[in-house]
Amino acid sequence: MPSSEPIVEARGLSKRYGTVRALEGLDLHIRRGEVYGFLGPNGAGKTTTLRILAGLVRPTSGSALVVGHRPGSPGSLARTGWLIETPNFYPYLSGYDNLLALARSCGLDRRRIGPALDTVELTSRARDRYGTYSLGMKQRLAVAAALLKEPDLFVLDEPTNGLDPQGMADMRELIRRLAVGQRTVLFASHLLGEVEQICTRIGVIQHGRLIAEGTIDELRGGVRRLWIRAQPVDRAGQVLERMLGADAVAHVDGRFVLRAGSERAAEINRELVLAGVAVSEVRAAERSLEDVFLELTGGEGGL
Ligand code: ATP
Repeated sequence: MPSSEPIVEARGLSKRYGTVRALEGLDLHIRRGEVYGFLGPNGAGKTTTLRILAGLVRPTSGSALVVGHRPGSPGSLARTGWLIETPNFYPYLSGYDNLLALARSCGLDRRRIGPALDTVELTSRARDRYGTYSLGMKQRLAVAAALLKEPDLFVLDEPTNGLDPQGMADMRELIRRLAVGQRTVLFASHLLGEVEQICTRIGVIQHGRLIAEGTIDELRGGVRRLWIRAQPVDRAGQVLERMLGADAVAHVDGRFVLRAGSERAAEINRELVLAGVAVSEVRAAERSLEDVFLELTGGEGGL
């Protein structure tokens, strides 16, 4: 369960590259334990934001805290696993030996290597040379390397980019597995379907600004509707207004349009029938998340 304690806090982040305004006053509040999808079209500013959080890029203005520390400081790096650059491993060493070299150089317990390889499902290929790995395996080894730190926060930039459909599915499954206990995962993607499948909360970025944030239900919220056909209309209207309030009930083109979600459909049907109303149709008319995003981003491609 996510707690209300923030693990990433950014306020008013702006970044200019010459005349390019990559970020314009971005705020982020990511809570411990959530899988947060940072969603936006190409060029929206996702990578710039993650690079600022990693301490690789300085913001032009604004500030951020990562696991309670300044971005890039030893305190934040020790508690965070990053997959935002192309991983660098020795091609002639095996996956296992690469992790061993890393554990030695960083003073990390080598007993963590086995479980990390298990988590990313590379145990059976761990003795093969890194140079022989597929892109998906290379990505998963990079996740295993980050796991050696047992981080509180994982940050991944477009982790499925360039992978084939099976590799993408494996990576999505791995991201779900990473989010155990109070561990937080923040990942950037331009793929709506991917974010929808994995995340507990989503932030939508466009032109360097956060334009929407919430759970999938919250982002769809306010647009949930039930359509009902029922006779006699007067009696049905009275029952529905009593249950939902007059504001939530409209009668349009011979049917009721109710501001209510599908979870109330059975209860509404029961009350109508008990009141002697004949119900001929009950239908949920929920907008897809895709519709919501197309409206938010003005139909800009990439989502
Ligand atoms: P993508 O999904 O394509 O990676 P993104 O959302 O990650 O996009 P960024 O890479 O953060 O977006 O880029 C935001 C804007 O800043 C873009 O207009 C990009 O061209 C510009 N930009 C990013 N890095 C630099 C740089 N080092 N120098 C100049 N402009 C840059």
